[in-house]
Amino acid sequence: MIKKIQVTQSSMPSYDEYCEEIKDLWESKWLTNSGVKHKKLQCKLKEFLGVENVSLVTNGHMALELALQSLDLDGEVITTPFTFVSTTNAIVRSGLKPVFCDINATDFTIDINKMEQLITPKTVAILPVHVYGNVCDIEKIQEIANRHTLKVIYDAAHSFGIKYKGEGIGSFGDASCFSFHATKVFNTIEGGAVCYGNDVFTDKITKIRNFGISSPTEVEYIGTNAKMNEFSASMGLANLKYIDDDIEKRKCIVERYKENLTSLDGITFAKKQANVQSNYSYFPILIDQQLFGANRDFVATKLEEHGVYARKYFYPIVTEFKCYKQEFSGFDTPVAKEISEKVLTLPLYPKLSFEEIDFICDILKGIKKRRNI
Ligand SMILES: *Cc1c(COP(=O)(O)O)cnc(C)c1O
Repeated sequence: MIKKIQVTQSSMPSYDEYCEEIKDLWESKWLTNSGVKHKKLQCKLKEFLGVENVSLVTNGHMALELALQSLDLDGEVITTPFTFVSTTNAIVRSGLKPVFCDINATDFTIDINKMEQLITPKTVAILPVHVYGNVCDIEKIQEIANRHTLKVIYDAAHSFGIKYKGEGIGSFGDASCFSFHATKVFNTIEGGAVCYGNDVFTDKITKIRNFGISSPTEVEYIGTNAKMNEFSASMGLANLKYIDDDIEKRKCIVERYKENLTSLDGITFAKKQANVQSNYSYFPILIDQQLFGANRDFVATKLEEHGVYARKYFYPIVTEFKCYKQEFSGFDTPVAKEISEKVLTLPLYPKLSFEEIDFICDILKGIKKRRNI
């Protein structure tokens, strides 16, 4: 039987370490609502992420919804269709209208040159995504936002631990939303956080994530339930001890992939970004059918035949999903559409061995060889 290599594998502490971390919960019997673990994780993350404020929540999606609700927005939000559907869903579920801006073909983040023409009197915010951990053009985005008095909320789900010009990636814009889902670089099983500079939001987010309750007899906001529980926070505390090591391992894996694939005509990957300390969260490759001799779907199928589960991530783009395609068109964002048809995200997680990477690359080399004959 062939061994399966999934696109990702959750990082976990040892069983004993996790048990040790959750042990006191049996004494305190305090399982959620800003418990000891929650407070401790919040404190540690503030330091690790290099941000002013961190509010922990149940997941990355709720982080986005809470950030949008806290900013009291009403109108249009400029965003990217080349993302996980959560980004768009959060906008729509918050009663806002997404306006899709194309991405650039270099790092797949929002194209700042196509953004300003989408701004109308109804535009209230920009919601870009640091997709695959590639940092958006933060300065230009802020410049445009300032010129038009728009809020900036980053979907930072892929960018845990990234530093830009030495500063935590979560410290830019009005808010940055992280995901601590099991498949992300850092996980609390399910979890997320909103990071922001203005501490006015602390009180608001704290209330909104707890139904909007402000006192035992008062409800101030129409809030939701998005509180991180103590077991999740404990997982975070245990995982955080290994994060530097995990990111270092990811770096070695990405370098190994690049060494292996550099000479393979028809396969390209995003260049290393200047001023960015990366977290190596994903390894997307672009497959050019003409040059490589096979298209992305063929490559994905071939890899699967060998037990390698790469992902067509992100395909299709958000505007092509059933719930959005009546209202939007992928043809309005041709670069995003084209990239989504060429992209394949290869397996990447700290425990992936060099043998496994070489095995995956050998399959790619094999496809090219046979196809070119
Ligand atoms: C994972 C992810 C989310 C949602 O985070 P969850 O923790 O799964 O709710 C949002 N946006 C992007 C880009 C993501 O990858």
